[in-house]
Amino acid sequence: MNRLIVVFLIVLMAACQIKKEESMTNNKKKYVNDAHSYANPNEAVMTHLDLDLDVDFETKIISGEAKITFDTSDSAEYLILDTKDLEVKSIWGENGDEAEFEFGEKDPILGQELKIKIPSNSKEITIIYQNSPDAEAIQWLDPVQTADKKAPFLFTQSQAILARTWIPLQDSPGIRFTYNARVQVPQNLLALMSAENPQIKNEEGIYTFKMEQPIPAYLMALTVGDVKFQSMGSRTGVYAETSMLERSAKEFEDTEKMIGIAEGLYGPYRWDRYDMIILPPSFPFGGMENPRLTFATPTIIAGDKSLVALIAHELAHSWSGNLVTNATWNDFWINEGFTVYFEHRIMEELYGHDYSEMLASLSQQDLKNEVENFIAEGKSDDTKLKLDLEGRNPDDGVTSIPYDKGYSFLRYIEELVGREKFDPFLKEYFNAHAFETMTTEGFLTYLKTNLFEKNDIDYPEQEIHEWVYEPGLPSTLPKIASDRFALVEKQLNEYLGGGEIASLDTDQWTTHEWLHFIKSLPEDLDPQKIEELDTTFGFTKSGNSEILHAWFLKAIQYNYTAAYPTMEEFLIHTGRRKLLTPLYKEMLKDEGTKDMALKIYEKARPNYHFVSRSTMDELLEVDEENFIQ
Ligand SMILES: [Zn+2]
Repeated sequence: MNRLIVVFLIVLMAACQIKKEESMTNNKKKYVNDAHSYANPNEAVMTHLDLDLDVDFETKIISGEAKITFDTSDSAEYLILDTKDLEVKSIWGENGDEAEFEFGEKDPILGQELKIKIPSNSKEITIIYQNSPDAEAIQWLDPVQTADKKAPFLFTQSQAILARTWIPLQDSPGIRFTYNARVQVPQNLLALMSAENPQIKNEEGIYTFKMEQPIPAYLMALTVGDVKFQSMGSRTGVYAETSMLERSAKEFEDTEKMIGIAEGLYGPYRWDRYDMIILPPSFPFGGMENPRLTFATPTIIAGDKSLVALIAHELAHSWSGNLVTNATWNDFWINEGFTVYFEHRIMEELYGHDYSEMLASLSQQDLKNEVENFIAEGKSDDTKLKLDLEGRNPDDGVTSIPYDKGYSFLRYIEELVGREKFDPFLKEYFNAHAFETMTTEGFLTYLKTNLFEKNDIDYPEQEIHEWVYEPGLPSTLPKIASDRFALVEKQLNEYLGGGEIASLDTDQWTTHEWLHFIKSLPEDLDPQKIEELDTTFGFTKSGNSEILHAWFLKAIQYNYTAAYPTMEEFLIHTGRRKLLTPLYKEMLKDEGTKDMALKIYEKARPNYHFVSRSTMDELLEVDEENFIQ
């Protein structure tokens, strides 16, 4: 806030003295109901968190204290927090008075509410607690599960509602707070958080953190490991285990350039530094946009920067998601649809329009497949942009719909009004709602007023309703045609029609062209041709995880057993859910390969994070009991 405004506000406040009480009540932010949190932000809402934690790799327990600063309405009696499997030892008010508290009933998805009676005049409470060794957010890795195989490793994944398994807090995306932390770890390890981070280890193993921009709970993150830092630019750098460090810094050297492009499009980067950490391969996602420190899977290191769109994606979240956040998990497309759109725009500036059209085309293929699958399973409601996840795990909403249908919706609007109007609109959207939350309805109202009415363009009410609230693919789905993919198809057809494999001109192909080539292979293919393709192009031996993944899917369909040992290795060592799920699904389609799926899963399951494990358990219809080893 600038000084002039402060002076103005003071004058204004003095003038409004009489109306003070009324206006204070009116100014209170109204929080929308979040079906996935017990918190009562309209009575008492947390504004700051101080953590003092001790990380014990022996017992797999993080213990310590969480001090929560909060704001209340006049009538507030309780502060209600979300917890799951936390052991609370005691709770204290600001004056050192012990606070009364009680836990609610346990819910398998939501955990338990922690209802704390606010001690009189207290604006702070301190909770002494520890988490369970099975805390769902945390994965504790043995040295053998890391790249260097020397030291243990830990990382958290709090999105969507797992922050409550390692910190007692108000775990709703609509509630933002700042935080400080002090974390004690074993001496040879470095701790990092979604905050201002250290770049070198210290002898005590005690690290302090500060996050001055308010964030929602799902962006709370901690990782501890034997990692080093390498700078990539004035405000970017990478953390990785020693054996991965050089390679990682090389692969992601365009990051600084990406930030410049992103700022040019949609306004300043507001989080100071942008660093990333390359985690061990069991990380369940491609990346997680923890502010200031993206958590990334090593499966995007292909050696030729061909999978760096993922970094563009995580970086874009610094605007869509982290800066303007979905109010509830039903509005998840507000985070992801915008981010995919933004990611493609960054990639377009970096590598050209024909490159980003390949990404757009792949996105649309994913969307079409997902919609088809959902409809075949009788789950057409899950194909709506605005979801209804009440009573379900919000993780069920992590499908291609919020990402790719969300992207397509924004592209539809872009094509309707033109970039010269859409870009300034988006820039102002991020600016006007910075560090706030957004509901689907809030966005639509803003869109109507600030894009359509402002530019005197008719608002296509019915079409937009269809995009957001109706199942399936809208009639106004943008037509995406990638010229480079068309060339791939032409060559593939010539080859399938009897052409020589040597005449395929693949020298200039990127990973995306290879992916399109593999995905376009017909369902029935002569075994000789399968072998010829593999021998010539080395798909089974590829160092690129996306190519491996696409090829293994075909291998299962073709029962091409020569690829199975490598696929088994891949499934055991990779925990990235997006790569795992389709492979297990494909194996389940046939009795012979179903058996193989179960056998592989038995070996792989201990390596997976809870997020991937719970998806695969459901898919393979097994549970903990089947796999006690
Ligand atoms: Zn994302």
